[in-house]
Parts: sequence; C-alpha cells; structure tokens
Amino acid sequence: MDYINQKFENQKEYICCSKGCALCCKTIGIPFSKLEFEYLIEGYNRLDDTTKNIVNNKIKKLINNEIEKECPFLINNICSVYKYRGIICRTFGLLTFSNDNGKEEYNIPFCAHKGLNYANVYNSEMNKISEERVKELGYSEEPKFYALDRSLLFNLKLVKDLGLDFGESKRLIDWLKEFSEKN
Ligand code: SF4
Ligand code: SF4
Repeated sequence: MDYINQKFENQKEYICCSKGCALCCKTIGIPFSKLEFEYLIEGYNRLDDTTKNIVNNKIKKLINNEIEKECPFLINNICSVYKYRGIICRTFGLLTFSNDNGKEEYNIPFCAHKGLNYANVYNSEMNKISEERVKELGYSEEPKFYALDRSLLFNLKLVKDLGLDFGESKRLIDWLKEFSEKN
C-alpha cells in the first residue's frame, strides 16, 4: 500500500502514530469489503492458538453485546493482524476528503482532539486546520486532505489493472457474525 504510505510520509510532521496508540481501533462500524475481510481472516488463520483464542473470545463478546466498542483483533493496544488489516485501518490518522454524490466532506482525524495527529494545527473551536498555526510553527509541508474515500481506492488504476473485485462491503461486526456462524 505504497499509495497510502506516501501520504503519511508527506504529512509526517503532523503524524504521531506509534505502536501502542490505538484509539483509532476503538471506533465503531469499520467497513470492510469481502476481499479485505478474506485477507484479514488470512491473518487470523496465521495467529498462534493462544492469540486466536483471545480473538475468538473478543469476537464472541462483541457479537453477544451487539456493541462494537473496539476491534476484536486489537490485543494490548496492538493490532494482531497488522499486515492483513483493512484499507480504512491504513488511512486512520490522515486528513481525508470524500465526494459522495456531489456532497463534499473534509475529515479531520478524531485523535486531533486528543492531542495527537494534527493537534498542533487544529482549531477545535472552529473544527478546522489553522493555516496561521501552520505558518507560525514553520512546518515545511502544508496539511493536505487526501481523497482516500474507499470507493476511490477501489477504483485505482492498479486495482483495475490487477482486476481485483472487492465484493460486497459491510461492517466488520456483520462479517464476524457470518464468520462465527460458519466456524
Ligand atoms: S484490524 Fe487492526 S488496525 Fe484495523 S481496526 Fe482492527 S486492530 Fe485496528
Ligand atoms: S491515528 Fe491517531 S489514534 Fe490512531 S495510531 Fe495514529 S495517532 Fe494514534
């Protein structure tokens, strides 16, 4: 996923993601396509039995409570299937832009409120990035909003060239329900 990594590289002055920081994995309703979910399960299948059991228990709890409080693959604040995580997981923390049916949306990572990514240049009162702060603090790169809407990613030339079909998309919890019923 060099395409997304390049964006993080460009914005590195504003990014403070690090191992053990996992607030972004505690959000709800993470969408996964069929292809992404199958890849995630490939990662799950490679886990050792102890880790698998921990994940299985978390999945069970999640399904029984019907509340998606945190991703069940998160163990001790570390993603147990990091290499196999979904596209949206890979974009957590960037400024993003989407244009769904002509409706433009600019998203600031929620962790800016928590003093993390872009916090130094985030104006919480106006919920926007402060150009003045960017100049004042002398950053070399401007903060950029990237068009990382999942449907845009699915339509990348590379994806088309490879003929990848992402299939149906739904919430991670819904995929996990199906997965549990079959296993
Ligand atoms: S798959 Fe990994 S990165 Fe994605 S939400 Fe779950 S724990 Fe976080
Ligand atoms: S996106 Fe925010 S919450 Fe997630 S790892 Fe990066 S800094 Fe932490």
